[in-house]
Amino acid sequence: MAARPAPYLDDLNPAQREAVLQMDGPVLMLAGAGTGKTKALTARIVHLLMSGNARANEILAVTFTNKAAREMKERVGRMLGQQIEGMPWLGTFHAICVKLLRRHAELAGLKSNFTILDTDDQIRLLKQLLSLNNIDEKRWPARQLASLIDHWKNRAWTPSKVPASEAGAFNHRGTELYEQYQARLRELNACDFGDLLLHVVTIFQAHPDVLAQYQRWFRYILVDEYQDTNVAQYLWLRLLAGGHKNICCVGDDDQSIYGWRGAEVGNILRFEKDFPGAHVVRLEQNYRSTPHILAAASGVIRGNEGRLGKELWTQAEEGEKVRLIGHWDGEEEARWIGEEIESLQKGTRGLRQYSLDDIAILVRASHQMRAFEDRFLTIGLPYRVIGGPRFYERMEIRDAMAYFRLVVSPDDDLAFERIVNTPKRGLGDKAQQTIQATAREFGVSLIEGARIAVEEERLRGKGAGQLRMLCENLARWRETMLGPVLRPGEAEDSADVIDDEPAFLVGETRRGTPELSHMELAEVILDESGYTAMWQNDKTPEAPGRLENLKELVKALEQFENLQGFLEHVALIMDNESEEAGAKVSIMTLHAAKGLEFPCVFLPGWEDGLFPSQRSMDESGLKGLEEERRLAYVGITRAEELCTISFAGNRRVFGQWQSALPSRFIDELPEAHVEVLTPPGLYGGGYGAAAAYGGGSGLETRAAEANVYNSPGWKRLQERSSQRPVSQPRESRNTVIDLQAVSAFEMGQRVFHQKFGYGEITGIEGDKLEIAFEKSGVKKVVARFVHAEDD
Ligand code: ATP
Ligand code: MG
Repeated sequence: MAARPAPYLDDLNPAQREAVLQMDGPVLMLAGAGTGKTKALTARIVHLLMSGNARANEILAVTFTNKAAREMKERVGRMLGQQIEGMPWLGTFHAICVKLLRRHAELAGLKSNFTILDTDDQIRLLKQLLSLNNIDEKRWPARQLASLIDHWKNRAWTPSKVPASEAGAFNHRGTELYEQYQARLRELNACDFGDLLLHVVTIFQAHPDVLAQYQRWFRYILVDEYQDTNVAQYLWLRLLAGGHKNICCVGDDDQSIYGWRGAEVGNILRFEKDFPGAHVVRLEQNYRSTPHILAAASGVIRGNEGRLGKELWTQAEEGEKVRLIGHWDGEEEARWIGEEIESLQKGTRGLRQYSLDDIAILVRASHQMRAFEDRFLTIGLPYRVIGGPRFYERMEIRDAMAYFRLVVSPDDDLAFERIVNTPKRGLGDKAQQTIQATAREFGVSLIEGARIAVEEERLRGKGAGQLRMLCENLARWRETMLGPVLRPGEAEDSADVIDDEPAFLVGETRRGTPELSHMELAEVILDESGYTAMWQNDKTPEAPGRLENLKELVKALEQFENLQGFLEHVALIMDNESEEAGAKVSIMTLHAAKGLEFPCVFLPGWEDGLFPSQRSMDESGLKGLEEERRLAYVGITRAEELCTISFAGNRRVFGQWQSALPSRFIDELPEAHVEVLTPPGLYGGGYGAAAAYGGGSGLETRAAEANVYNSPGWKRLQERSSQRPVSQPRESRNTVIDLQAVSAFEMGQRVFHQKFGYGEITGIEGDKLEIAFEKSGVKKVVARFVHAEDD
C-alpha cells in the first residue's frame, strides 16, 4: 500500500500499531484492562477499510454487547472521518447469527420468519413438555431443564451429540426431553437464544458449501472480549476462520466472568495452538485509570491462581485513593451514594465537577438496583438502568409484543396462547383445549387450528365469533405489514437490495411499500384487538401507567425499519432503555459493565454472601470464588479517576433482613491505596460508620468508629452481630409481628390463598408474605391466610 497519512495510527503505541498493521494471519492481543485492546481493534477495522484490503461488509467483527457494537461503529465512523455505509456484520454473536440463520433457516428446519423465544416462553414450553411426559414439575423444575439445555447448547451439543456421560442428567430424561423440545420448537417455527449459534454451527458443519461461501465472504474476522467465548462460539469462529485464518482476537484472562454461562477461558489460552504461527501482542500500559485504582485492582486479582500474570503500569497522575465506606443498611448506602453524587456534580467534594454521565453504579446482583432507583426517584436524580429487569419485561409490553409476534410469525403458538383470551373473548380453558386439539389433529399452528375449529363449528357462541374476528384481524394485519405483492420486473425503488451484497445473500420475495408504517400498524393492532380498550376500562391504579407504557412501546418502534427488526432487537438487547435527553447516572450489573469506563464508579454491596455470592462461597473448590474475584477486578478497573467501594451491615434480600460481613475482597485491597470514609453526621449526631452497626442492633460499641477498615474490633463486632439470627430493621423494631405464622413458610414454597389461589412465595417480611400468584400476580398477604399447598 502506498504510504498515506493515517491519523488513526498516530495515537496508538508501538505494540497497538503492530496489532493493527499485521493484517493477514492470526493475531492475538492478550492484555490487561484499559490497555487499549478495544481501541486497537477499532483502529484495525479502520485500517482494513482505508488500506482497501476489505469492504465494510466483508469484515466480521464480534463484540460482547449491542452497546459495544454501537460504540465501535460510531468510533470507526469518527476515525474514518466519514459516515460509513454501515458495517452489517459488526455485532454480538447472537445478532450476527440471527442474520445468518434467517438466510439459511430451511437448513435448520425453520422458516426464515422464525421467532426468537425469551426465557419466559421457553419455560412455558418446557412446563408443557414436562406435563405431557407426566414429570412432576415440583421435583424436576422446568428452569432446571432450561439451564441444562442451555448448557448443552453452549457446548454445541445437538441432542444426538450429548455425550453418554450426561445420560443421567435430569433424572435420566434430559436428552430425551431436549430432543422433544427441539422438535417442538421446529413446529412452532421458533428457536431460543442458544439455538441461534447452535443452528448456525450445525449448518456450517453439515453444509461445507455454505460454510465456504462465508469463509470467502468474511475476509477478516475480529473478536473483542475473547476470554468470554463459549465452546459453540469458539467452534463458530474456528469454522469461519478456517480458510484464510485472518482472525484477530483480543482479551484478558483476568476478565473472564461468564464461566457460569459456559465461557471457557481456555479458548484464549489455546489460541496459539489452534492457529499456529499466531502473532501475539501484549500491551502493558494502562490508559484508563489512576495508579491507586490500578494498584487496588491488581491487589485483588493477585489472589487468583493460574493467571497468565500481567503487570500494568500507567503514566497517569496519582489521583485519589480508592474510597471505602460502611453503612448500616442498603437503604442508607443508597442514600449516601445519592448525596455523594449530588456533591460530585456540584464539585463540593474538593474534587473536580462531574457530570452525571461520568458516574456509574455497578452492582453484583440486579436486586440491588431497586434501592438506588427508589432513592434517585425520590431525590429526582436522573438515572438509567442498563440491562436490568425493565421495560420490555412488563406485562402489557409482553402482551402487545405477543400480538406483533403473531403478525410477523403466525406459527408462534406461544404468542397465540398468551393473547387468545387477552382481552377477554369468552375463550376459557375449554375453548382453548378445543383449539389445541384441533391444531394437533390437523398438524397445524394454533391460529390455523382456531380457524378450523370455528369453521367446523367445534366452537360456538360468542367466543367463536370473537375468535373468528381475531383470526381475520391477524391475517389482515399481516397483509398490511407485508404490503402489496409485486410481480417480477415491477421493481419498487425502495426494494431493499443492497448492491454490495453477494447474490446468495439477497432474499427473493418482493413486496411493495405497505400503506401503513409499522408504527401506525402497531397502533391499529392494539386498538382493533381491543387491547388498549381493555386498559382504558380498567380501574386499577396501575392502568394509566400501563397505557403510558404502550404508548412508549409504539414510540420505540420508530427507530426500526419494521416490526420484525424491532422484535429481534427486543429479543437481543440487554441495554434497551428508551433514551431521554440529559445527563444520567448509569446503574448496571458488573457483568454488563464489561469493556466500559467511567470517570467515577461506585461499587456497592461488597459483603460476603452478596459479593462474593453465597453460591460461589458454598462451592467446593475455588473456581466460583476466582470468577467473583475477576468480577471485582472488572469492577475496579472500570474507574478512571474515582472508585468508591461500600458495604452495608444489614440488607433486605427478597423481603428478609440479613446481616453480613464485609466482603473478603475488601481485605485484599492493598491498604496503601485505600482511604476509609466515615459518613458525615448527616444521619443523627456524629454517628460514624461502624457505630451504625451497633446502633440499631443493640450492640452499643463505637470501637471501630474511627477506622472501619483497620480496626479488628470492627471485625469482631461484625462477627458478633452476624451470629444473631437476623437483625431487625429499624422501622419494624416496635411492631409486634406474628412470627409463628410466618415461620411455617420458606422462600419458593408453593402455597394456596383462599382469595388469590395458588402461588409461590417470593418474599417473607414480618408476618407478611409476598406471593407470586399464578392468576393474580404478585401480592403481599398476611401469612395467617396462606396454606402450604399440601394442607
Ligand atoms: P478493557 O479490558 O476494559 O476492555 P481495553 O483494553 O479494551 O479495556 P480500551 O477501552 O480500548 O481498553 O482503552 C481504554 C482507554 O484508554 C480508552 O479511553 C482509550 O481511548 C484509551 N487509550 C487506549 N490506547 C491509548 C493510547 N495509545 N493513547 C491514549 N489513550 C489510549
Ligand atoms: Mg475493551
